[in-house]
Amino acid sequence: MTGILIAPEDLREIKKLYEEVLSNAAYGMFFREGKIIGYSIWNSLFRKRTVEDIPENEFIAKTEEVLQSRGFIKRLEADFKTSKIVVHGSAESTLSGEPSCHRLSGVLTALVEKKLNKKVLCHEIKCMTGNDDECIFVIMGETTLY
Ligand SMILES: [Zn+2]
Repeated sequence: MTGILIAPEDLREIKKLYEEVLSNAAYGMFFREGKIIGYSIWNSLFRKRTVEDIPENEFIAKTEEVLQSRGFIKRLEADFKTSKIVVHGSAESTLSGEPSCHRLSGVLTALVEKKLNKKVLCHEIKCMTGNDDECIFVIMGETTLY
């Protein structure tokens, strides 16, 4: 795949710009951008397969691989039984500890929605504060948060 690379520092500056112009509406825009990317990733990975034929461990491994290759994350662990996704090295994090990975939330939401074949929200409850820290997302039923 060819694409456009944006340095994490630039991504954070662009994010600040959007927040200055759009205020909280920016978060919904980032999330929806992420969903577009997530559906595209799903189609590139699994379009020709039925959901039942994609084991959870394969889904998680391929999701981690593609998000790593696109520079979104360094590592991902997910467990549908606990409805928890842990991400290390999110390029989108502002390192403030406040949930700020709205685009990644959208990407994960789209992918998990497709895998579970139902509307969900991958809601970030904790964001990394440093390079060794982690972001934690919980998989929730459909909400009107965005
Ligand atoms: Zn985060």
